[in-house]
Amino acid sequence: MRLFECGTLVPGCEWHTRADEDAEVVRRAVQHMRSAHGETVIRENMVDNIKARVRDEPGTKAA
Ligand SMILES: [Zn+2]
Repeated sequence: MRLFECGTLVPGCEWHTRADEDAEVVRRAVQHMRSAHGETVIRENMVDNIKARVRDEPGTKAA
């Protein structure tokens, strides 16, 4: 599983998501940015920032 923790991008935010594929993690993270952090326009560099922080969830084996 792949994991994104919003706190790595927005300090203090406890939200996180996990999915099998990076694309799904990024999609959910973008939705969260919109709804929780008021990012109505998702800039290219935000997607890059999210992608850079997606990591393997500890304790799971790579597929
Ligand atoms: Zn957040």
